[in-house]
This record gives sequence, C-alpha cells and structure tokens, in this order.
Amino acid sequence: MTGRPEALFPLFADIETLDGVGPKTAGHFEQMGVKRPRDLLFTLPYSGIDRARRNSLRDAVLPDVVTVEVTVGAHRAPRNRGGAYRITVEDAETSFQLVFFHARTDYLQRILPVGARRLVSGKVELFDGLAQMVHPDYVLPPEEAGEIPAFEPVYPLTAGVSLKQMSKAVASAVARAPVLAEWIDPEQKKRSKWPNWAEAVQQAHSPQKPEDLAATAPARERLAYDELMAHQLTLAVARSRLRRAKGHRTKGTGALQARVLTALPYKPTGAQLRAIRQIEADMAQPLKMNRLLQGDVGSGKTLVAFMALLFAIEAGGQGVMMAPTEILARQHLEGLRLLAEEAGVVLEILTGRDKGAERKAKLAALATGGIQILVGTHAVFQKDVEFRDLRLAVVDEQHRFGVRQRLELGQKGQRADVLVMTATPIPRSLALAQYGDMDVSVLDEKPPGRKSIQTAMVSTGRMAEVVEHLRQAVSEGRQAYWVCPLVEESEIVDLTAAEERFKRLRASLGEDVVGLVHGQMPAAEKDAAMADFAAGRTNVLVATTVIEVGVNVPNATIMVIERAEIFGLAQLHQLRGRVGRGSAESTCLLMYQAPLSESAERRLTTLRDTEDGFRIAEVDLEMRGAGDLIGVAQSGLPRFRVADLERQAALMEVAQSDARALLERDPDLTSDRGKAARVLLWLMEQDQAIRLISVG
Ligand code: ADP
Ligand code: MG
Repeated sequence: MTGRPEALFPLFADIETLDGVGPKTAGHFEQMGVKRPRDLLFTLPYSGIDRARRNSLRDAVLPDVVTVEVTVGAHRAPRNRGGAYRITVEDAETSFQLVFFHARTDYLQRILPVGARRLVSGKVELFDGLAQMVHPDYVLPPEEAGEIPAFEPVYPLTAGVSLKQMSKAVASAVARAPVLAEWIDPEQKKRSKWPNWAEAVQQAHSPQKPEDLAATAPARERLAYDELMAHQLTLAVARSRLRRAKGHRTKGTGALQARVLTALPYKPTGAQLRAIRQIEADMAQPLKMNRLLQGDVGSGKTLVAFMALLFAIEAGGQGVMMAPTEILARQHLEGLRLLAEEAGVVLEILTGRDKGAERKAKLAALATGGIQILVGTHAVFQKDVEFRDLRLAVVDEQHRFGVRQRLELGQKGQRADVLVMTATPIPRSLALAQYGDMDVSVLDEKPPGRKSIQTAMVSTGRMAEVVEHLRQAVSEGRQAYWVCPLVEESEIVDLTAAEERFKRLRASLGEDVVGLVHGQMPAAEKDAAMADFAAGRTNVLVATTVIEVGVNVPNATIMVIERAEIFGLAQLHQLRGRVGRGSAESTCLLMYQAPLSESAERRLTTLRDTEDGFRIAEVDLEMRGAGDLIGVAQSGLPRFRVADLERQAALMEVAQSDARALLERDPDLTSDRGKAARVLLWLMEQDQAIRLISVG
C-alpha cells in the first residue's frame, strides 16, 4: 500500500474541478466541511421536493410546491419601487399569480411573454385569498419539461451556495464515482439487498420518492455501512496489532486470590466473577490482552482489577495500575493495602512526587521484582521505569483515552496485557465506535445492599435551607461533599467560588467541620484534606471537580452540587456516584440557578429520575450527539457523514464482526476482498489504519 489508489484520484481532486465550482463557491463549501469531490458524495439530500406535474393548482392543498403548465396572461408592474411585479397565469382549471420582487421587467417579459405556454414550478401560497407563486423555482417552455426532476433532492446548504449550485456540483461529483471492487461480505450484502458502491452513490443522490431518503433505504444504508465498516476496520487493525504475540502465557494458581477472597467482608458479584474469568482467560492466551472493563460507578471494578493483578503475580510476574490523578492513585494504594497484606504481596506507589533517592530505590525494587504491584499516575510509564517482568497494566478511569493513546500504551507495556477500566457507561453503539479495538467485559450488576440515592432539585434561592439541612446532618455525624461549579474556563474563577463557599460554610457550620480541596492546592495540603475527610475529622468537603472520578469515602452520604445546571449529565452522574457507597441512605441536592434552560431542565430531571448509568448515557447521547459525547478529537472517532451512531447501532455491530472476520482471514489485506477493503480505507480517509497496515 504505497499510496492512494488511482481510481480514487478524481474524487480527491481539487473541489474547483467540479462543474460550477469556482474559488468563491469552494470557499463556501469549505465552511461546511466539503473540501474535495469525495466529501460531496457523502453529503446526502435530507429531503426532497415533489415536483410531479399536476393538471391544475386546484388539485393541491396550499401551501404546497406545485408544478403545472400555464398560459401566461397580463403583466402588472409594481406601482412603487420594491413592490411586487405580478403576472397572471392560467392552468387547465384556474388562474393564479406569479410574483417577483426586484426583478428586471425586460427579463420577465422575455422568459414569460404574454400568451406563451410555460411550465412553472414553485411554492404556491394563499395571500389575501389569492393563490400566488413567489419567485418560481423553474420557468421553462413545455418542451424542456424534462429539466424539472419529478422528485428533487434537497441538500444541506451553506450561505453563498444555492440548491441549484449544490445539485450541479453533486451531480458532477457523482459522475466521477468509479466502479470499485466489493469490500462487504457477500452474504451480508445479499441479505440486506444493498447495491454496489457506485450504484449506491448514484441512487442516494437521485431519490425517486420520500422513502428513498430514509436511513433504511438500501443505497443509504449501504453508504452508512461503508463508513462504519471503514471505522471498524481501523479498530480491527489496531486490535490485531495490539494483540500480537506477547511471548508468554500468564497463568495464575489462584492461591493468592483465594486468600484475599476469604478475607473479604463480602462476596464478589456474579458480574465481577464473570469479568475476572474473562480476563484470566485472556491473560492465559499467548496473545496480548487489550480489554475494557466497563462498569458504572460503584460497581466494584477495583476488586476485579486487583484479582487480575494477583493472577499475574501468581504466575511470577508483576502488575501496574495507573490512575489519572494523584488523589486516585493514593486512594488505590489505601484501598488495596490491606488486601495486599492479606495476600502477602508487596505494593508500592509511584507518582510525579517521587524524587531523588526514594524514587531510585523504588525503581531498583521494580527492576528486581521486589515490588510486585505498582500503583501510580502516568509517572509509572516514564522511560526509566523498568519492571523485572511486567505482565499486566491496568489503566483506571481512562475514558478520555483514544485509540491512538491506547496503541502507545500498548507499546510501552511491550509484552504486558492491558486492562482499561472506565466508569462512563456508554451506549452500545458508542462503545463499539470508541472501543471497537478492544474486547469488553461489563459489570452490569451492583454489589447488593446499595441504597438508592434520593436526588432533588433545589434552586439557589433556598441556599439557607440547604445549609440548615447540612448543619442538622453534621450534628448527626454524617458527611457531605459540596461541589463548586466550573463557572468559567479559568481555574482562578473556579477557585474563588470554592474558596468563597468554603469560608461561608465554615462560618455557619464551624471551623473544624469543613475542609477544602481543589486542583491548584499543593499536593500535601490536598492529601491532608482528603485524609481528614476520609477519616471523618471533617464532615463537609468543599471541592472543585477534582473529586469527580473514583474517590471513595463510604461514610459520605450527602452530595451538594452547586450550579448543577452547568455540568454535563455524565459529569453529574459521576459526581453523584461519590455517595450511596455505604449502607446508609444518601441524598444528592442539585442546586441550580433559575430559570433553567430547556436542556438544563432535561438533564437535571433525568438525573433526578434515574440512577441507571446506561439510561443516563443514552439521554446524554440523544441530547448531545455522538461526537460531542466522547470528544471527536480525542477519541479518534471520525465524523460520520452518512451513518447515524444514535440510530444505527445494530449496523455498527455487523460492521465490527465483518471487519474482525475479514482481518482474521486476511491479516494483511492481500486477498481480493482485502484489497477492496484497502480502497475503502483510502476512500474513507482512515489514514491511521493505512499506516498500521503498511508498517505491518
Ligand atoms: P468502582 O467500580 O466505581 O471503581 P469500587 O471498586 O471503588 O467501584 O467499589 C466501590 C465500593 O464497593 C468499594 O467500597 C468496594 O469495597 C465495594 N465493593 C466492591 N465489590 C463489592 C461486592 N461484591 N460486594 C459489596 N461491596 C463491594
Ligand atoms: Mg474506581
């Protein structure tokens, strides 16, 4: 695969090579993300205008687009400038008016001479009881009737590009669509009754009836599938690169795990056991594991990860667990310490704070195998960190990781299996789009005995009541988080809000009762504030969103979120997940500043009405759209022009299995279908996959 296939050249030529596209139109096209003829092929009409010819206007229910043959009658020029120029016309049964503004009289007399027969098409409306067609879309002599399409596709437009220009440019691009060898599984294609690619392009741009515009119309569905297939092929290539041989099988004895399980005060859930089994089976394979562990907040991912780490150690290896923040890394250390002791396993932490001799000693212990499990921040993947025998790398809460970063991580961990954990429940279609290169285990069951969280919406006008409620709770020994909002992009403003709230709450609840933690604090202070809260020395922790992910203080049962209306749904769900972790009743107060916008209201009521992370994710997807939800730039998710992630999840699933099956049979894409698939990757601009294939 040295370069773009020649057959595709015309589609990747300069946009100005298309009919009717000059530098100016090219500029306008660029505004809508259309840079090359190829982009126009995948810009499909979103509706159509029925221009089927009628006998008379009388058959129409107005207002409507009408196409009818008329005899031109009297012209009446406007009395004043800017007035309407009116031409009375008569069809087979009735008469109406053609109306023009700012048109030149000589021009109108030329195209609509009195007494002539003309075919006119345009929207007819009643104005003062009089039927009129303002600025007809078409005015043609009857012998040129063929120029008016019976069903005219309507394209998304941008300022400066008219529908006529657009249609012309599209037609010129469609004419360039070459016949390409088929990349879709023949069975799949037959079952879905999909046309060949070039035919699909042709048909999608020349709908004959409204049904042809539906996402389920065979031509459009095929083009959507092509996009999904190209994306899944990229992920499948990434997956096969990650899954190459690691040169060893990791097979634990179960001895350490058994010790820990007997020491646990609870039993693992069925979902946890299932996930552990899946992970162990993967680790025992000579191929590298690249697995995602997905589970809502509080579903118990840490235990699953720890069991997997023990499995690696039982096999004589080491494991590492990386968290996105220092706070979380420390918390993992605390949370795992007792379990590690139970198992008799050496656990250490490494973060950016480790310096000098201490750091050196830790690195030495890692290199000799003295440290068996390392937790830490991304510092654990610095160049000079070497393990004696790293078998498993666990990445916690990395839902902001894209395919590219995962590939890098896979390279760093060289021969280690990789387990990525995410607490962001995402709908199936998105999981496939974003994590299609991974195998997925889902924790779809929460540990038993969890109480539901009472969630209420409270306007900021009731601040005094909320503080009073808090005072009561504190006097009962309960603990609360108080989250201050991200008011502006600036950290400084955030801080003032948090610090201000901290002062006020101290003033009303008592100096010793309230703590503060935020991202800008010196590390030691941050730790101290977290530790005080975890140990119950403070009852209220005022925080910025640093507590968003993963923090676990089971005794905290109240979550107050100030200005909840400016947070996203997923973030609110994460924040709320900090409470409801113990056996006591928990509450979450969503404080908002009235009036709420419609979308803010929908977000808050959704949160109030459900705790189901998947349900919340679905609403989020519906409200924000896929790209926004996972961050297109970071996720490496392409911008789909035809496919609709929200509605075509099933298609995505088919594309994934098709892509994986193809790659399994033909890892280097050298068969006929493999070669066709390479052309698809070029067509869909999946450079990443192309690069991966070429480096092999
Ligand atoms: P998350 O999936 O959000 O990372 P954690 O692993 O932090 O969740 O677990 C949340 C809490 O649930 C922890 O206090 C943990 O000890 C507890 N836990 C985990 N598994 C179980 C279980 N099977 N039964 C009861 N409690 C559990
Ligand atoms: Mg966690």
